[in-house]
Amino acid sequence: MHHEASQASQIRASAKPASALEQLGALGVGGILWQLANDGQIVDVRCEMPQCYCFRGRRYFDPAPAWSDWSPTADHHPRLKMHGGQLTPDNVRLGHKLCNNRDFIWRQKINSMLAKRMSLDEIAARLNEQQVPTIHGTNRWTPAAVRKAFVS
Ligand SMILES: [Zn+2]
Repeated sequence: MHHEASQASQIRASAKPASALEQLGALGVGGILWQLANDGQIVDVRCEMPQCYCFRGRRYFDPAPAWSDWSPTADHHPRLKMHGGQLTPDNVRLGHKLCNNRDFIWRQKINSMLAKRMSLDEIAARLNEQQVPTIHGTNRWTPAAVRKAFVS
């Protein structure tokens, strides 16, 4: 009897829009992202990367265990892992795996070229030579796109 009552309340609960925690749970997400949602630190399950490539939109995710391009991942932000950043509540954003990987590839390349004191023109030319995927909606790296990718 008691059991049936609790099932009924679950069914009623599921008629509400799913919370971030419920959405992440349904996607099979654990770890830091689940912890953030559980602590009320993620309110919106969407790709938070500056550039999102998902043709289904920022709110679409494949289940985490699928580990596809559109699976949810925890991005080290603002402090990169290569700079000692950790996946702590103050250093995580939610992103699609592909959006996260692309962001990381640019940052790694652009950071090292900035350190060599190359100009944005030179960096854009090098990224085009290396055929590094461009930011969304463009097909070539320009000095402005390099700056935008770096500062966003
Ligand atoms: Zn995305």
